[in-house]
Amino acid sequence: MMNDLHTFTFNVFSENTYLLDHGNGEATVFDPGMSSFDEREDFDSFLQSRELKLVECLLTHAHLDHVLGANWIVEKYGLLPRLHDLDIPTWDMAEKSAHVYGIPMDPLPSRGVPLEGQGSIISCGNYDLEVRLAPGHSLGHVVFVCHEYSFVIGGDVLFNGSVGRTDLPGGDASTLAKSIVEQLYTLPDNFEVHPGHGLSTTVGKEKATNPFVHS
Ligand SMILES: [Zn+2]
Ligand SMILES: [Zn+2]
Repeated sequence: MMNDLHTFTFNVFSENTYLLDHGNGEATVFDPGMSSFDEREDFDSFLQSRELKLVECLLTHAHLDHVLGANWIVEKYGLLPRLHDLDIPTWDMAEKSAHVYGIPMDPLPSRGVPLEGQGSIISCGNYDLEVRLAPGHSLGHVVFVCHEYSFVIGGDVLFNGSVGRTDLPGGDASTLAKSIVEQLYTLPDNFEVHPGHGLSTTVGKEKATNPFVHS
């Protein structure tokens, strides 16, 4: 496995924030969930220790747990978070959700250039990532697929032995199953899926054993 992808687990939801080292001194953060001072220090120290310049902030989707650090990323690194337009309703609800959960949250920043699905390519130095729209957990959820290095940054669509919840606004179980089958299970078995929560898995393992969505 390439070791340019670093996983941080942040905030009370144990959300996985990923940092992709482009291999050229630059890096992209996915789903910035760092919420406490210590989590933000950890993230920034990691960048400094590798002498990385953060150049992009991408979101798989805009649930609260994936955007708790979005405003801090803007203040610290000047990078506006980019998400798919179809997930703006999720984004618009994040602050209200924080209030409901009783979680302190910075106000959300402006959004950056919208992500285009389906099939657009984002270049991250050595890594080209294909954007695939995979709704069902949220309306405008996307996954980022790196074909050359066989991995997916998958957010809350497919988990190790589970799938994303579908009981939140914009969620729909049959849409989620369709997204998993069409957007993830069509990838080769060896592709690693790095989810928004829990341990990574592979397409092959989930196709064979996932109790919720079979191939
Ligand atoms: Zn979510
Ligand atoms: Zn999540």
